[in-house]
Parts: sequence; C-alpha cells; structure tokens
Amino acid sequence: MTEKIQCLIIGSGPAGYTAAIYTSRANLHPVVYTGIQRGGQLTITTAIDNFPGHPNGIQGPKLMEDMELQAARFGADIRQGIVEKVDFSSRPFKAWADDGKEIIADAVIIATGASARYLGLESEERFKGMGVSACATCDGFFYRNQIVAVAGGGDTACEEAVYLAGIAKKVYLIHRRDELRASKAMQERVFKTPNIEILWSRTTDEIVGDDDGVTGIILNNLKTNQKEKYDISGFFVAIGHHPNTEVFKDFIECDKEGYIITKPGTTQTNIPGIFAAGDVQDTRFKQAITAAGTGCMAAIELEKFLKQ
Ligand code: NDP
Repeated sequence: MTEKIQCLIIGSGPAGYTAAIYTSRANLHPVVYTGIQRGGQLTITTAIDNFPGHPNGIQGPKLMEDMELQAARFGADIRQGIVEKVDFSSRPFKAWADDGKEIIADAVIIATGASARYLGLESEERFKGMGVSACATCDGFFYRNQIVAVAGGGDTACEEAVYLAGIAKKVYLIHRRDELRASKAMQERVFKTPNIEILWSRTTDEIVGDDDGVTGIILNNLKTNQKEKYDISGFFVAIGHHPNTEVFKDFIECDKEGYIITKPGTTQTNIPGIFAAGDVQDTRFKQAITAAGTGCMAAIELEKFLKQ
C-alpha cells in the first residue's frame, strides 16, 4: 500500500521523538517508524541522572515512554516497524517499511541512532545469547552471585560494571589501556565499588565455554605479553557503537565509520529535504540531550524546507 505524507521520521530515540513532537505541533502529521528497539538505546539503560528536568533522575525506559506519549499527544503516527529500503534519488522520497507500506514523503528525518559494537571474535559470536551480551540491564539478572566480565573503558562499560556489581558476586572490567576513558564521576563510582576488579592493559583473545554457555575468558596481558585465563559465566561487551546507516548509504554521504555527515551547525545532509539527528550523525557528544536537541533542529529545518 502506498501512502503519501509530508514528514517521515525514521527512528525513535530522543532525536526521533523530539523531531516528532516538533513536527506534529507544526501540523506536519509526521509518521515515525520506531525501528526494532522502540525508544532507542535509553530503553536498555537504568537511571538517567543528566537529563535536565528530572532532579531525582529518571529510568531510561520511562523517559522514552514519556517522550513517545508526548509525541503521540500532538498526533504523531508512531509505528512499530523498520524501514528496510529507501530511494532518495529524487523528491518526493520513497521508503519501504516491513509492514508492507510504501511511503512517499516530502521530507525525511533520519534518527536511527547507533548499535552496540562487538569485538569480532568467532567465540563471541558462538556464545551470543549464551553468556555473551551487549546489554547488562537486559541480561544482568541471569548472573546473580556469579562472576562476570565487562570489556571496555568508556562510560558505558563503567555504568554496566557498576550495575552488574549489584547483582553478580564479582565483576572484572577489562580495559586495553591503563587509564579509563569514562568521565571522572563514572570512574569514581567504579573505583568505589568493592567487587569490581579492573584488569588493566588487557585485550580479550577468546571466550571459552561448553554447551551450557560461557565458562571463562582468555586475555592477553599487553604489559607481560602473557595469556591469562579467568573463570566467568557472563561476558558483557561495552566498546562503543556503530551508526545505523546501512539502508541509507547509497544516497546519504557518510564518514568512513558510517556516521552521516551534516553541514556544520545544521542537520542537513547532502540531499536537500533529508535531515539527520541524534547519534546517527554525532561522533562527539552522543548524549540523550544532544540527540533531543538535534531532533528539534531537524524538525525546524524540515518545516522551513517544506515552506520554501
Ligand atoms: P566510548 O567510545 O566512549 O568507549 C569505548 C571504550 O571501548 C573505550 O574505552 C575503548 O578503549 C574501548 N574499545 C573500543 N574498541 C575496542 C576493542 N576493539 N577492544 C577493546 N576495547 C575497545 O563508548 P561508550 O559506549 O562507553 O560511550 C559512548 C558515548 O556515550 C560517550 O560519549 C559517553 O560519554 C556517553 N555515555 C554517557 C553515559 C552517561 O553520561 N551516563 C553513559 C554511557 C555512555 P580506548 O579507551 O582505549 O579507546
């Protein structure tokens, strides 16, 4: 079925929903395709303490539910579904969703965000869902009183390690350098948690296990050049994200890592009428509040574009 609309928003994190709030209030009747993870990355996190307006913090899933309700209140048409293919070669733009709809849109906001990266080990692939995970808040529950490891040294790794330390008996934080990348506040939380042990200057060589799942990891100690084995039953990967731009890359200009390139100070892509907001175009800040900010910018730019 073909549907003709003014504004298509692809993605449902803080960028997508903020764009939906603004465009629906501007009477552009936006259609939002949420993607697989409705609400985006914040739906798999815990307390958010740095989103303004919530003096006591707010749970990630609740914040996203509220943003969705706010967008729906002004009439945004929010659909659970994935945009599988696009044709941005001429205006109006075409997109095909997995609900069978062909969408013809006057303008588009891409807010598809980024997804967790994995180390790329064969053993990691083998034990995915059997002890290997990229989401502590989704899977941490299974490791009560067990020993787990988190790979990474950024805010995500530290946050996941602290979260897991409240469930598991012990958490190894494996970092490839001798200094964490995470913010000082997050580092402090890690240092103050007694059951987190940081394994500095180590990389993961292999995840070992049996038919029941993960039983251990083999690490490479970069200082001694020795292999080390640790017994664990859960391995959490927290080494950053890659942008979700696969569907657009034939049309939209991206950098070498796949992030959409926008004109500085705007959300404009290489195609007039197509805007990008949130983590999909942000190699630097990657915060919920900056994503929401660029979602607002994209909506205002789109509205102006349609008026011209
Ligand atoms: P980051 O890119 O900040 O950190 C990734 C970490 O993984 C780095 O320590 C990096 O090591 C390590 N790493 C990358 N590739 C590999 C590899 N192949 N093998 C081993 N280690 C690897 O990603 P995050 O997801 O942690 O954070 C993304 C953004 O989101 C940041 O801006 C962060 O501040 C923000 N964030 C904020 C939070 C908050 O404020 N509450 C919570 C979570 C994230 P190295 O340091 O050596 O490069």
